Amino acid sequence: MAISEKMRYFAEKSSWIRKMFEEGAKLKAEHGADNVFDFSLGNPDLSPPAEFDEILVEVAGDTRKGAHAYMPNGGYPWVREAVAGRISQEQGIEVGGGELLMTCGAAGALNVVLKSLLNPGEEVILLAPYFVEYNFYVDNHGGNAKIVQTDENFNLDLKAIDEALSERTKAIIINSPNNPTGQIYSAEQLAELGKLLDKAGSSYGTSIYMISDEPYRKIVFKGHEVPSIFQAYHNSIVVSSYSKDLSLPGERIGYLAVHPQIHDKLSLLDAMTLANRILGFVNAPALMQKAVAELQDVSVDCTVYEKRRDIFCEILKEAGFEFIAPKGALYIFPKAPMGDDVAFCALLQKHLILAVPGQGFGSPGYFRLSFCTDEKTIRASANGFKEAYAEATK
Ligand code: PLP
Repeated sequence: MAISEKMRYFAEKSSWIRKMFEEGAKLKAEHGADNVFDFSLGNPDLSPPAEFDEILVEVAGDTRKGAHAYMPNGGYPWVREAVAGRISQEQGIEVGGGELLMTCGAAGALNVVLKSLLNPGEEVILLAPYFVEYNFYVDNHGGNAKIVQTDENFNLDLKAIDEALSERTKAIIINSPNNPTGQIYSAEQLAELGKLLDKAGSSYGTSIYMISDEPYRKIVFKGHEVPSIFQAYHNSIVVSSYSKDLSLPGERIGYLAVHPQIHDKLSLLDAMTLANRILGFVNAPALMQKAVAELQDVSVDCTVYEKRRDIFCEILKEAGFEFIAPKGALYIFPKAPMGDDVAFCALLQKHLILAVPGQGFGSPGYFRLSFCTDEKTIRASANGFKEAYAEATK
């Protein structure tokens, strides 16, 4: 066996999305792609905004000497300043360009942060249901993931988090708006979480970091907003990207920003800059840095996703499913009516609907549907949901 035991184990563990992809390809070959309702992938289907196309042409035309040369590992200083301006507005706290790094997406940013923070065996708390790659990222850098379930509304279970904190806890990753639930944590809950981390850190003589993974910050539906993480806790780090709000996941462009009063700020920023380099990213893509610097106030039209959310909610309600209407992001996470999420996703497949079992997100008993599919397809799936629900509950 050429590959390591660990990678073999990980490949099995991460198999849900891949399995759905393979099953989907089979169903599409058999029934035609238009007849399969594929809600399994979080790959934004909206085109990037027109402003992106315009600026891309402009920056691609830059033929000045050095336009494609190596740069500081944290990114072009003027790009970092532009992004810092936006983060200062979002967080309500003045952040400078020197307090952030441009990265290869949110995934790259998370790896840079974890590499910079973790000693072998230190723990990172993950809140289930969660983006499954977190497990692998924590392991990449020698940490141990500690899973804590959220409450019945997918909100923070502060008591459970408190019980999970220990002298080994180095960080907690939160993700709001959340993949897969669409939940947004309130400012009050975040402030309480900040207090818990502060108290635990003081009692153990450690610093516990809050890592806020925010690629869906701008994908928020009417009546909701995403509170500032920096106002909730000083030892906090924001990681984000333009994968979802500008529909650019293939371009691998994102950033991380640290709270201006974070513990040990300068050595942390130095470590992150080195991590960006030695993880092999070296720096975020030059062309994309130049493009996004000009697009800080631009995003895809969220109302398209909101409409899809509404249609899904209507269909699921009508069929009898139990679910919580998402406040943002690109997903809905209903309860599997027969309890067994894997069996229910198999049943959905018989109705040509592809969904991902909750087990793939650390929360069995649920399934995830993504809104990255047009309205027509979502509407056309209504009967399939109704029939699958009826079969599961008869
Ligand atoms: N975090 C969450 C919660 C995600 O859903 C994703 C992608 O789906 C990522 C991080 C990775 O995003 P990026 O493409 O910016 O690396």
